[in-house]
Amino acid sequence: MADAAYRDGLETPVRYLKGVGEVRAAQLERLDIRTVGDLLLTLPRRYEDRRQFQRLADLRAGETVTARGTIMACDWVRPRFGKGYFEALLQDESGVARCRWFNMPYLQDTLKVGAFIVVFGKVVRFRNLLVIQHPEFETGNDDQEESLHVGRIVPIYPLTESLPQRTMRRIAWNAVQLFAEKAAESLPAESLRRLGLPGIVEALRQVHFPDDPDRARRARYRLVFEEFLCVQLVLVARKVHAEQFLVGTAHAAPGHVRRRFLSSLPFELTAAQQRVLKEIAADMEKPRPMHRLLQGDVGSGKTVVAACALLDAIECGSQGAVMAPTEILATQHARTFARYLEPVGIRMALLTSDMPAAERARALEGIRKGDIQLAVGTHAIIEDRVVFRKLGLIVIDEQHKFGVEQRGALYGKGEQPDVLVMTATPIPRTLAMTIYGDLDVSILDEMPKGRQEIVTRVIREDQLEAAYDFIRKQVAQGRQAYLVYPLVSAETIADVPVAQVELLKPDVELRAAEDMYRKLKDREFARERLGLLHGQMRSADKDEVMRRFVHGEIDILVATTVVEVGIDVPNATVMLVENAERFGLAQLHQLRGRIGRGSHKSFCVLQGTPTTPESWRRLKVMEETVDGFRIAEEDLRIRGMGNLLGREQSGFPTLRVGDPLGDSDILLAARQEAFHIVQGDPKLQDPQYELLRARARALYKLVGPFVKVG
Ligand code: ADP
Ligand code: MG
Repeated sequence: MADAAYRDGLETPVRYLKGVGEVRAAQLERLDIRTVGDLLLTLPRRYEDRRQFQRLADLRAGETVTARGTIMACDWVRPRFGKGYFEALLQDESGVARCRWFNMPYLQDTLKVGAFIVVFGKVVRFRNLLVIQHPEFETGNDDQEESLHVGRIVPIYPLTESLPQRTMRRIAWNAVQLFAEKAAESLPAESLRRLGLPGIVEALRQVHFPDDPDRARRARYRLVFEEFLCVQLVLVARKVHAEQFLVGTAHAAPGHVRRRFLSSLPFELTAAQQRVLKEIAADMEKPRPMHRLLQGDVGSGKTVVAACALLDAIECGSQGAVMAPTEILATQHARTFARYLEPVGIRMALLTSDMPAAERARALEGIRKGDIQLAVGTHAIIEDRVVFRKLGLIVIDEQHKFGVEQRGALYGKGEQPDVLVMTATPIPRTLAMTIYGDLDVSILDEMPKGRQEIVTRVIREDQLEAAYDFIRKQVAQGRQAYLVYPLVSAETIADVPVAQVELLKPDVELRAAEDMYRKLKDREFARERLGLLHGQMRSADKDEVMRRFVHGEIDILVATTVVEVGIDVPNATVMLVENAERFGLAQLHQLRGRIGRGSHKSFCVLQGTPTTPESWRRLKVMEETVDGFRIAEEDLRIRGMGNLLGREQSGFPTLRVGDPLGDSDILLAARQEAFHIVQGDPKLQDPQYELLRARARALYKLVGPFVKVG
């Protein structure tokens, strides 16, 4: 590759390292490590200070210790009551201590009398015995290498199956010895000096094999800072460029149409809606294009806000466009906007892929001539074939699908339209800065009054019959229900986003929408009217099923996560999710947002077959809170950001070292530095930024120019 970042030898495949053969290379690949550079940026998850070991004679209950010794005796112990465990008696120069491991009978093959081991774990008191409880351990069979594994601050790496800690450490050591000094410095000298950061070579050495804890911390800070800086440069460069150079339309609307619309609503705007509308209006008034993110939980009233913004643009003689992620949602948005806006005289059109050719031609003609003031559709709506007379505002209803580069492409449409991105996935501030750092942000942090409370219950599989019974009763009272499954059919998991494929393990039999639909239709719900909806149906069939559900011709909709986003059926009062442990919390929150939208009390039932206490606790979070921000944070902590975004998508950064939640202070510092750099050199043309630019492009897999806005 010609990119400057790859000229420094760090792109050497890991298998050329000593100690890495085909098998190890495959294991490393599972950790996303392909090149030496990847390996150097695979940071230790923690360190152990093995300069001094805890003397076994001096253990105290409650301490977490690093100790070492020789195994004098060991055996699998079967107590009269309770679980069996493997126990080893460890001896050092001071005395003896016990280590116990539960649920790991195979340790009998690993740990033998005479073996020298290092353990890390918590000391616990059992009756009057002190025990090092379930410690992490390393066996030291290679004496000549002890200097690498003991007598220093030792890195503990993330591992994968069959890759021992010591092997990983040895590989990292070889990489650091041979390649760290080949790493090129991408941070400008002036930034390094001003911010007091260590250089790249020093940082790579110290982050893996630190001389002291403080240097390890500073080394990590620098590496995370650099990664965040690359991300922020891409975003901030676009933001600053748009503010300084782009000329859009000043939409200074008198607001007559908007007022007429608002007075037609049966409710008052919340204070949050009013505040956000002011922010949007102030932005749209300016002669530069608005690039704004509207964040608000499901049901917080984003659509009304978007409708007002559209009316302002239209009143100023512009056209509006609304883009939804799927055709189902586009159709539904068209319905909602028609209900809101046709009474105030707005002419609109829905564009879908399967509409009759004549109707489509007519819509395109209307959009071109300007007779159509508002067009609704999927992103096909901004394809080049759709020509607007004067497109002034694009509203994007999105679910993390639009990366920075795709947004950039939008801005080029027409005469620099205003852009309002709406997202219903509340995300913590620093994560929003990572994904949407090129946008200004408005937040709807208040729910409309008088919304129905939703009761949430987590149940086990043997309670499903009772849940079905409950659904029958609700249907008998005229209500509707959703039944959501993780799979389309037993053979396909195509409907499940990447994130869940990782959660899918074959140990629990997963119920699939198609199979359950066939089964329930003739048995449990023989008297109710069932519908089936999943992402692999033809879009005309999906729309027909949705239409029937909306019109109450279907009582129970059996579905996959296609019902996750934005579907609005106020009469639906039950959301039953089976195998709920397979979904991300943010996703469950979205699903729950489908109910509680009307005047009837609503119920969310999550059936889980969790395989660990952790995954049960995770589901319980849903019972405890309806706060989307809390749920999103919990989800992130568990699943990591890569999963949230979908790894391979262009336009989203793939972070290797930084964590926008845990490293928020570093992120803020990096963003500030990005502004500093961009203000001095808006397009980063100075040669000193060449490596930063190249890394940023690689992080984002950018295909277009570094700064492309319009
Ligand atoms: P979101 O798009 O944020 O999920 P919507 O705009 O679809 O939320 O609003 C959800 C429901 O709440 C709709 O039925 C809408 O009519 C209603 N709604 C919106 N704003 C208010 C308000 N200020 N007071 C009462 N109801 C409101
Ligand atoms: Mg909505």
